[in-house]
Amino acid sequence: MARARLTIDLDAIAANWRTLDALSAPEVETAAVVKANAYGLGVDAVAPVLEAAGARSFFVALAEEGVAVRRALGDGPRIFVFSGLMPGDAPLLTANGLVPLLNSLQQLSDFKSEMPGTAFGIQLDSGMNRLGLEPADWKAARDQLDAMPALIMSHLACADAPDHDMNRRQRDCFAEMVQDMSVPCSLAATGGTLLGPDFHHQMVRPGIGLYGGLPFAGAAPVVTLSVPVIQTRTVEAGEAVGYGADWVAEGPRRIATVAAGYADGLMRHLAPGMALYHGATPCPIAGRVSMDLITVDVTGLPDAPDKLDILGPQQTVDDLARAAGTIGYEILTSLGDRYERVYKRRKASEN
Ligand SMILES: *Cc1c(COP(=O)(O)O)cnc(C)c1O
Repeated sequence: MARARLTIDLDAIAANWRTLDALSAPEVETAAVVKANAYGLGVDAVAPVLEAAGARSFFVALAEEGVAVRRALGDGPRIFVFSGLMPGDAPLLTANGLVPLLNSLQQLSDFKSEMPGTAFGIQLDSGMNRLGLEPADWKAARDQLDAMPALIMSHLACADAPDHDMNRRQRDCFAEMVQDMSVPCSLAATGGTLLGPDFHHQMVRPGIGLYGGLPFAGAAPVVTLSVPVIQTRTVEAGEAVGYGADWVAEGPRRIATVAAGYADGLMRHLAPGMALYHGATPCPIAGRVSMDLITVDVTGLPDAPDKLDILGPQQTVDDLARAAGTIGYEILTSLGDRYERVYKRRKASEN
């Protein structure tokens, strides 16, 4: 193993989609959010697996991402674009059959002139104040639509906190805005899917839960990350390791240097206090994380290891996120391009 290997369990992604799908009634569609290259895991491999599991609608942030999904999936599935119709995007959206989720009066009017007669969705702001038409703008716009939208959606700000009052307030605000419209509606991402039927409407659209992250605590783990050891050395008491020389050995120690660092999404913040694993044995990070390297105290191992795991059964994406003061979403989408990505899958005939 010459470089770090990120193993992505495609069966686990399919299983997570099915588990999330089973949380809503059969008539509720379960879509799949595959923005940011399927949360860093590789949309070309991930999207077809989600389609095979049963997903019929996909969501991306940008038109260009939608083109990649269309290339991976062919003509069948619907692909929605959260950012809507951005200047200059109409030809790309039209040529690839991508459905913009129109966010503003400006986007609505651009759509009328640039993409007449094509499918569109509407994104409403129900309180997050990030994307979508405000209630007053929507009130003015909804009676002047030339055609029915394919989908009306909004997004929850606090769905990872089930007791947060904001969830109920946004649900009620959304209900008021879509009253009397017989159009499929969607409010729930992963968190909203877990909040229960009140939040499911006609479609749920999970992202992070598919990839094994919180708030979907019941998710099957999806990623393992193994990093090769480049060299091992002994340091004596009093010797320092790494930049800043701020880790000093308290006694004789074996230090292994592994081939991944903050340029690969393993933030400097992770050290100290974090460990890499050899099987079930934790080996603490010694000294600062460098751009391409991490130094690890492997004194506790009987033999010098040839690789160590940073993500796997002993340490999840969310464990790493907690240590780095961030969320699993950011860990996943920061995992770098330098990893060898290996996709694990049973034989297709068994699926
Ligand atoms: C990213 C995103 C999702 C998916 O959210 P998860 O929390 O990853 O499930 C759904 N809807 C919108 C609008 C998003 O931006």
